[in-house]
Amino acid sequence: MAETILPWQVSQWDQLVRAEEEGRLGHALLLSGPSGIGKQRFAKALMHWLACEQPSAQGACGTCRACHFGLENPDIHIIEPPEGKRQIGVDQVRELVGISAQTAHRSGGRKVILIQPADAMNTNTANALLKTLEEPTGDTVLILISDEPARLLPTIRSRCQRLPFPVPPKSLAQDWLKMIVTDREQCEVCLHETGGRPLAAQFLFESDGLAARQRCDETLQAWVAGEISLSQASDALKDCELDFLLEWLSQRTHHLLRAVMGGDESAVNTIWQSWRQRPAQDILAFQQQVLELRAQVQRGVAVNRQLTLESLLLSWNMPARRVGLGL
Ligand SMILES: [Zn+2]
Repeated sequence: MAETILPWQVSQWDQLVRAEEEGRLGHALLLSGPSGIGKQRFAKALMHWLACEQPSAQGACGTCRACHFGLENPDIHIIEPPEGKRQIGVDQVRELVGISAQTAHRSGGRKVILIQPADAMNTNTANALLKTLEEPTGDTVLILISDEPARLLPTIRSRCQRLPFPVPPKSLAQDWLKMIVTDREQCEVCLHETGGRPLAAQFLFESDGLAARQRCDETLQAWVAGEISLSQASDALKDCELDFLLEWLSQRTHHLLRAVMGGDESAVNTIWQSWRQRPAQDILAFQQQVLELRAQVQRGVAVNRQLTLESLLLSWNMPARRVGLGL
C-alpha cells in the first residue's frame, strides 16, 4: 500500500501535480515547516509517486513494479543521520553525488533522493551537496526536509523549489487526531500542548507524554518554591530526555509569554499560572536560552545533559538580570 498524504497537505500535493503535468517540477524541492506536522509522510508519498510507472493525480498506483518495491526500489534513496547520530556525514552526501550521476535503474525513470533533516548537514557536507544542486542531472529529484530552513546555507535554499507546510487549521487537525485520541478532551489537550501539530500530538499521546509533562511541571514548581533541592529536582527529571525537556519548556514559556504580553491566558498551564507576574524580559531571556539549547542539540552539538538541566533549573528560579549578571 502506497503512503498517502494527510488531509491538510492537499494544496501542496496539487501544486506539485500541476508542476509535474506542466513539466516545471524542480529538480530540488525543499519541504519546510515545523516538526510534527507530517512532512516526512508527504515526502514518502511523493517519492513513491515520482518513482511509480503509472502515477495518477492522486498518487502512486500501488501495483506497478516500482510501487511493489516500495522503499527498496533501487531508484529511491534516503539520506539521514546514521543511527545514534544527529549529523549527516560528508561521505553520505558524496555517495549521493555518485548516485545522481548514474542513470535510473528503470529505463526512462527517475531517481529520487530524500535528505532528512536537511539541516543536519554541516558546512562541509552542505557544500558537497551544492555540487549536485549546481549540476542537476535531468532524471534526479532531490527532496530536502527541514524544520528550520533558516539554518540551511542560503545557496542551498535558493536552488530549491520551496514548499512550505504551516501548522494545519485546527478543525482538520482535530478531525484527524480524534481517530487516534478518541477522548475529545484529551485530543484537545494533546493538540494544545504541541501548538496544534497533529503528529507531535499523536506522539505525545502514545508516549504518555502528558503525564510526563505534568511531573515536570510539579517538579519545577516544588524547586521554585524551595521544597526540594537542585539535586533532588534534577534527580526527579532524570528519566526525561533532553529533547523532551527542551520541547516542554519551549511550549510552556511560549504560552506564558503570550499571556504576559496580553494574549490568551487560558492557554497557560495551571502550575505556570503562578509565574504570570514575572517580567516579560525574564521569561523571554529564559525562552531564548531554551531555544538556543534546542538548536544546539538538534545540530548535534554534544551537550552535557545534567549540567544543562541544572543550569536551566537555576535560571528559571533566579533570573540572571535580578542577580546582577547584566543580561
Ligand atoms: Zn506504481
